[in-house]
Amino acid sequence: MTDESRRDGGRNGSNDGRRPGSTMPTRPRPALRVSGPRTAVRPDRERLPQLGDDTIVAVATPAGRGALAMVRLSGRDAHQIAGRVVQPWPLPARYARLCALRHPASGELIDRGVVTSYDAPESYTGEQTVEIVTHGGYSVPAALLAALVAAGAREARAGEFTRRAVLNGKMDLLQAEAVGDLIDARSQAMHRSALAQLDGGLSRRVQRLREHLVEIEALLAYDIDFPEEDDGPVPRDRIASACADVLLQLGVLLRTGRAGEMVREGAVVVIAGAPNVGKSSLFNALVGRARAIVTDVPGTTRDAIEAVVDAGEWPLRLVDTAGLRATDDVVERIGIEVSERYLKDAHVVLACGDGWAAVNDCVRRVQPLTEAPVIGVRTKADLAMKAPGADDAPLPSDETHGRALEHVVAVSAETGWGLRELLDAVAEVLSRRYGAPTAETPLVTRERQLRSLEEARTELAAFLQGWGEEGIPTPVAAVHVRTAMGALEELIGTVDVEDVLDKVFSTFCVGK
Ligand code: GDP
Repeated sequence: MTDESRRDGGRNGSNDGRRPGSTMPTRPRPALRVSGPRTAVRPDRERLPQLGDDTIVAVATPAGRGALAMVRLSGRDAHQIAGRVVQPWPLPARYARLCALRHPASGELIDRGVVTSYDAPESYTGEQTVEIVTHGGYSVPAALLAALVAAGAREARAGEFTRRAVLNGKMDLLQAEAVGDLIDARSQAMHRSALAQLDGGLSRRVQRLREHLVEIEALLAYDIDFPEEDDGPVPRDRIASACADVLLQLGVLLRTGRAGEMVREGAVVVIAGAPNVGKSSLFNALVGRARAIVTDVPGTTRDAIEAVVDAGEWPLRLVDTAGLRATDDVVERIGIEVSERYLKDAHVVLACGDGWAAVNDCVRRVQPLTEAPVIGVRTKADLAMKAPGADDAPLPSDETHGRALEHVVAVSAETGWGLRELLDAVAEVLSRRYGAPTAETPLVTRERQLRSLEEARTELAAFLQGWGEEGIPTPVAAVHVRTAMGALEELIGTVDVEDVLDKVFSTFCVGK
């Protein structure tokens, strides 16, 4: 079902008083827009592609056997079309009611289902909408879909409902991406991050930065209009410091990109160690301990065994490099079954040994090959417990190694002893280095988002340099600010969004 709160959120003029679904231009776009600090960003309708006024329909739930299915209808004629299939009709808006569903031509009963009608703009898409919950399975939803098409609706394309929601100002592009991420979320971290973005956490930050740039642009425009005021009412360093502040905040957002990528794809945890120390057993035990995630994300490695597990705070991409024995890539000369490539890509390395001496040896060999934190893992701890005193090598310490070891954990794949501590140690190390992924921290999770933020940062850096050191003329400097603003607007989806929309929604499922 769609989110009531967002529907309510659209009550206040999300359609600007125009007919729902209409994208007809009503005013020319001003050359320089100056808005107050709290102005909401809405899609720039003048530049948006024409939305079809047609009514779309789709089964919003996945195909296959299931108790219930939901069919969703949205568009200008959604209510009339529903009226040809649903009895009784009309229904009061936002009340769920059990109705008979019949084919419009034959009158044959398809099912009885719970129908909810929504008036524009208070719906997910901002259009007239009807949602029908029927029995699930293969036959009923398909028959209802066919009946609604026979009654005048068109089958929706992938992501078309959310696309209409964006075009009608119900959500911005970042939130639409979050809808996709929420549907695709397979880990708790991804779930949390997508929900934070859907709530507008990232959008609000980007909007605030855009508003700062609008203010700077206004100051520059003043400078252009009154160039004779040498020292002017707007000192150059005030503009410079405002710009530097935005630059700083862009840097903060961009730095979340690494954590965002880890939340999306899993933090790479490489299990390293000499043959037979118990790496594969540890890998299997960890996969059994945490919840394995079946993932479509293509593996970063082809010649190692990988599994993504949901370990709570972070999804972990465990890499067991045991399969590397036969490849040229193996760092045979150091006697450790892990390639430099994997160590370079790692976010955490588990340096394994079946005795403290072996752990020490592994840590010493691995540390120069990776920038990632290294956790010393003493495997087969159950054996050490059975024969205390046999394993008398000193614990790995700061003196033994060039860099401080983040953690040292003893585990047994056989009994499960220490596995929880190991997973906790990995999460702790990651959160310390990359910031804990909480619901309050907006993370930049997509390449598209990083690109726009990076472009804005490059433009502002160029502006600052020209403005400060080179004293370039104001109109030239203003171009940088405007381009930076354009990059942020593209990020939220306020300008030139057609290409961006195509890209964003191509990965959506039908019915969303
Ligand atoms: P790898 O070559 O490093 O991947 O090592 P394996 O996981 O194949 O393990 C090597 C041997 O050690 C196997 O015979 C395992 O059964 C054994 N082994 C692995 N982990 C444990 C453990 O926690 N306790 C005990 N007692 N034996 C283990």
